[in-house]
Amino acid sequence: MSSRREFLEKLTVSAVSLPILYSPASVLAACDGQPYKGPVLRVAIMGLGSYGNRVARGMESCKRAKLVGVISGTPSKVIDWRKKYDIPEKNCYNYKNFDQVKNNPDIDAVYVITPNGLHCEQAIRVAKAGKHVICEKPMAINAEEGERMVKACKAAGVKLLVGYRMHFEPKTVEVIRMRKAGEFGKTKFFQGQSGFVIGDPTQWRLNPKLSGGGAMMDIGVYSINGSRYMLGEEPIWVTAQEVKTDSVKFKEGIDETITFQMGFPSGAIASCLSTYAMNNLDRFFLNGEKGFAEMQPSTGYGPIEGRTHKGKLTQPHITHQTLQMDGMAQLIFEGVQPIAPVDGEEGLKDLKIIDAIFLAAKTGKKVEL
Ligand code: NAD
Repeated sequence: MSSRREFLEKLTVSAVSLPILYSPASVLAACDGQPYKGPVLRVAIMGLGSYGNRVARGMESCKRAKLVGVISGTPSKVIDWRKKYDIPEKNCYNYKNFDQVKNNPDIDAVYVITPNGLHCEQAIRVAKAGKHVICEKPMAINAEEGERMVKACKAAGVKLLVGYRMHFEPKTVEVIRMRKAGEFGKTKFFQGQSGFVIGDPTQWRLNPKLSGGGAMMDIGVYSINGSRYMLGEEPIWVTAQEVKTDSVKFKEGIDETITFQMGFPSGAIASCLSTYAMNNLDRFFLNGEKGFAEMQPSTGYGPIEGRTHKGKLTQPHITHQTLQMDGMAQLIFEGVQPIAPVDGEEGLKDLKIIDAIFLAAKTGKKVEL
């Protein structure tokens, strides 16, 4: 979607199919035809890499959030972004001096989009500078780091939000709404498959210090988080098995493929696959006593596709990052919660499960949560 007009036209065309209660509020507001007059979340992006670029493009269509600053270690990127997004020089920082954002009244939040292993320290510095933190997934590389981040943001009185864009995605939101409304009956089984074949062996994703792990941290986390929002419960145990076929590319500390299972208090179970060695794996399946939901692709950039026992999911595709950032602005300013949480506690829950999965894979034992 290239322009704001196209974005709004698409919303108007699809407005009739949107369920009122559970559609992301920003979508509904955009559909009411009124110009937006409320507060705008002024965001600086830290880390101008591949996903940072995608978020910046998505934010061009936001009405509640605006890109106003950057934090980068590469001066040439800063020059490009300043031109492209009309960013004033006073809102540009590097990794050494970004604590000074504290003295900048024109920035409300910093979106941390750097390698996973840097999130904790960077997020805590942003919190100490008194700015809201939006942090990419995984929120950190283990639960201990996650706990420190939650604590620091609480102490600073700022929000900590995690880039769980699926929590704002209309088809996902509809499936969660159906589950909450009991339309699947008692949900008993979730299957999540998350994976792709990773390329360049020199990238940070294959460096344990920067990534905190392999496929699990990067893509398996979608199946973990998905199992929780699809079933609506928190797991109480995990088991896991690891397979490694290339110990040069996937060195110590970098998981290639892990299958894992989770048990939930109701008796529901989940069976998931996380891998850096197979393509075509982006699939969720939820089974209940009265129906099912099947989504494939389930967490890619979209369009998401899926069906339930009632038929095809027809909610519109809207750029995920646009919905997420408008939704997060609404959360910060108005306290409006998305259908599944996106706060630091939510990120921490996934990190605790990841820690448990790594332990289960290593020991071969069932790990209680
Ligand atoms: P990337 O490699 O494209 O970008 C990372 C950026 O961090 C680069 O601009 C790089 O210069 C900068 N950086 C700062 N310090 C660095 C260091 N010491 N080493 C390496 N790079 C450094 O990666 P990406 O794909 O943009 O991923 C960034 C984060 O976003 C990760 O946490 C990733 O999990 C997350 N992500 C989320 C989604 C999503 O859909 N929510 C998608 C992709 C990535």
